[in-house]
Amino acid sequence: MTIFDKVIEIYQDKYICFHCLGRMFSLLGTDTTNHDRGNSLLLAITMDKHRAYLSQQDNHDNASQILKLLAEKAKYTPAQSVLEKEGIEYSKPDFAEKCYLCNDLFNDIGVYAKGAEKYLKGIEFTNFLIGTALDAQIINKEDNFKAIHNLLEAESFKNHFNREVGKELSLILSKPAEFRMPDITIIYSVKFGSFDITLLLRSLFIYSRYNKFARGIPQTHWDCRLCRGKGCESCKFTGKQYKTSVEELISPEFVNKAKADGSKFHGAGREDIDVRMLGTGRPFVLELKNPKIRTLNLKKIQNKVNKSNKKKIKVSDLIYSSKERVKNLKLSAENTKKVYEAIVISKEKISKDTFDVLLKKLKTVYEKQKLQQRTPIRVSHRRADKIREKKIFRVEGKFIKPNVSEFIVEAQGGTYIKELISGDNGRTTPSFSDVYGFSLECKKLDVLEIY
Ligand SMILES: [Zn+2]
Ligand SMILES: [Zn+2]
Repeated sequence: MTIFDKVIEIYQDKYICFHCLGRMFSLLGTDTTNHDRGNSLLLAITMDKHRAYLSQQDNHDNASQILKLLAEKAKYTPAQSVLEKEGIEYSKPDFAEKCYLCNDLFNDIGVYAKGAEKYLKGIEFTNFLIGTALDAQIINKEDNFKAIHNLLEAESFKNHFNREVGKELSLILSKPAEFRMPDITIIYSVKFGSFDITLLLRSLFIYSRYNKFARGIPQTHWDCRLCRGKGCESCKFTGKQYKTSVEELISPEFVNKAKADGSKFHGAGREDIDVRMLGTGRPFVLELKNPKIRTLNLKKIQNKVNKSNKKKIKVSDLIYSSKERVKNLKLSAENTKKVYEAIVISKEKISKDTFDVLLKKLKTVYEKQKLQQRTPIRVSHRRADKIREKKIFRVEGKFIKPNVSEFIVEAQGGTYIKELISGDNGRTTPSFSDVYGFSLECKKLDVLEIY
């Protein structure tokens, strides 16, 4: 069966438009549109049958029958002209009849493109992608049609529609389509006779480092433990366990300026609520969701955030970032080195000389062996219970009072410093308490630097 026979078989069954006819043979021939593919097929058949008609041979009658089919059922104007020229009568086609497959949707592509325009007002983007959710009726109709006529070289309705709307919209907006990382995805929900549009704006990622100068602030928002965020008497109906967080102090200015729907805070690890984050700060990436503005004045936002949160937090070195950076941030947290300053209280009083001896012992112990740290009880509700091996790179110490001393500890990322000192009832070994021979407690802790 030739491709011409296939086309004739199609029109003996149903009327379909040029676009849809071309789509049924999309995998054949390149560098053209489905519309031109459809038109070319009909033109070639018309020419072939016109020639057969003129040749006055056996297939003469059959040729005029097929020309009539194209003129009436395919509503093909050149076939109509040939018939008129040769003086063959044919019935006027039914112009009200719509394409069986697309309901004449492909003739109205401009309407779909224009429809998106109003949704895009006030949104900043440099490129876009079209997506489509088709009604099941459209898909089923097309699948059945392809099965009945054994059409194996067709392209999907969806691809065809996305491309045509994309081309049209690209012209209207003077912006290119982007397939890998579009700023915006315009999703059409298409039914016969109507359509809806939803926009998906790609998240904007901003990398920075934060300092925390005050204790008692968690890194991210915590739901109230009693009401789980719903609001209750205990949390004064805020739904929050803590009044604020590093995240809540930083993100509103960004969300506001980017006209985003919300944000997500991705920190490179986290310090405890009562631990300060000093030095050059802790890296984090702020993800802004559904941002309508993508070009932000980062310097201005930084100044604003820092000015309104003096003595609490500070952000620095803001730059645009990516989703990949967030992944790396999480992965690399374990491979970082962190420097801490700890104020340590001991049960027993010791002299400066004893302190010096114990400090020397501490240094030797951690030079020789790694720390075995089982997940502390206090975090066991959110982290898997297992033993982690950590390297302590450096311990420096200063005698302050017989029962108070200050330590500088340089440790592998993910080390629990409070437990390194206390021993956590034998869950962390060897601990400072083990080396001292009596129990120690970390009273205050600061992160001085993250490498
Ligand atoms: Zn059609
Ligand atoms: Zn509550």
